[in-house]
Amino acid sequence: MDRWIHPLLRPFGLSNGPRHKAGNGRKPAFLSVETLECREVLSNYAFLPNRWPTKTRLTYSLPSDGVYWFKSTNVMQASLDNALGANWRTTVAEAVYQWSSVSDLDIAQVPDGAFAGDYYVSPAASAPFGDIRIGGYDFANSQILASTFGPPPDGWSRAGDISVNVGVNWNLGSNIDLRTVILHEVGHSLGLDHPSDTQSIMYESYQGVRPTLAAGDIAGIQALYGARRDDSYTLAGIGVSAANPISLAAPALGERATALGGIELAAAGAADYFRIDVPEGFVGTSLKMTVSANAISMLSPALSLVGADGSTIRSASAAGQWGSTVTIDLGPVLAGQSFVFKVNSAESNRFAIGGYRVQADFAGGQVPQPTPPAPTPEPTPVTPPPVVIVPPVTPPAPVTPPQTTPVTPPVTTPTVPKRFRPLRKLPAPIRAPVNKPKPVVKTPAIKKPVTAPVAAKPKTSLSALAKVLLAKK
Ligand SMILES: [Zn+2]
Repeated sequence: MDRWIHPLLRPFGLSNGPRHKAGNGRKPAFLSVETLECREVLSNYAFLPNRWPTKTRLTYSLPSDGVYWFKSTNVMQASLDNALGANWRTTVAEAVYQWSSVSDLDIAQVPDGAFAGDYYVSPAASAPFGDIRIGGYDFANSQILASTFGPPPDGWSRAGDISVNVGVNWNLGSNIDLRTVILHEVGHSLGLDHPSDTQSIMYESYQGVRPTLAAGDIAGIQALYGARRDDSYTLAGIGVSAANPISLAAPALGERATALGGIELAAAGAADYFRIDVPEGFVGTSLKMTVSANAISMLSPALSLVGADGSTIRSASAAGQWGSTVTIDLGPVLAGQSFVFKVNSAESNRFAIGGYRVQADFAGGQVPQPTPPAPTPEPTPVTPPPVVIVPPVTPPAPVTPPQTTPVTPPVTTPTVPKRFRPLRKLPAPIRAPVNKPKPVVKTPAIKKPVTAPVAAKPKTSLSALAKVLLAKK
């Protein structure tokens, strides 16, 4: 066990023990048929010391060739391209998908780059590559096909990482079968050890082409992460038919898009239905509906616009891809219109299960805008005019009265902007400040002097005041 707790202290390779290596056609001679049958009952799956904690979503990535990869340099992509053509990437994706599809664990492929295999990140940090990275180099030992770190904390940022021995003569569908070995190694990445069941893909030795998981493998991964559960909508019976779709919320005021995540297709052949209503106020806009499993799962989603009876009107898909995004652009739509969309998978035997999100974008045209926040500098312009009006009443001490009189106008002014707020919904809110001086002019201060006509022209009274003051001097 300690070799898993302190993996960084040991050279990677033989000393890591056989539990995470697939031997090349090596069959232990000491096992008889009888002992195998006996052990099968006890162990058709086994666990490594760790599992991925509190996660139902993992990612994997393919590091760039040329980066430092454990004891060597990653050359897996060019090596497999040369041996198998570019399609080996689909084989790897299919192997990852098999584990994901039978457990409550979405594993999405994400970008990788020129980051060394020991690029350190805390397991809790967000790394610029997948949780599980698959690279490779020539082991110079044909008896070891691949090796893998278990879940964290094993290997820290290298937890779950797989090294493929590019010195092996790889094939697709014949010995040595890349899919079989990737299936085995991804099982280690997720926390499974070698059981005694020779039928298991996790058996310690390569036993020929095994394109699918055995019953023990499925039981093992489900014991670790649970069987796949459907999303809360489907479990509640919502979105299961065109007549009972999941309603997408209208976009927020001023926004063009609304989205919904946390949904999934939990079984091959499953479908979810969504309804989107074009909200009032959207003038001249077009509707674009998108379904995406990008960075969420291995799902290859398909999207259809359907009629009330569920019949397909338009559809789009990207068969053969995984973690893909599909869009239907409906063009111009009218406020009040409703559309029902169906999401299922373009595939049946692969990439048919996984989480995704949907999004409705209202592009172009006019979008209902929220009321802009009312500017509140009104109180300040209110105070100066009373100052001008009051001095004539008590010339000797013009300073004290203004302080008391300005208090009353601000109390009344808050009602003034409220009256004007509805007007600001109009496209020209700039006019509002122009109207404000008017209520200020008729401020209650006029009542005090009683000689109202004088107050009508503040400028003249100011100059008059100046003259009076000068004359008194
Ligand atoms: Zn192994």
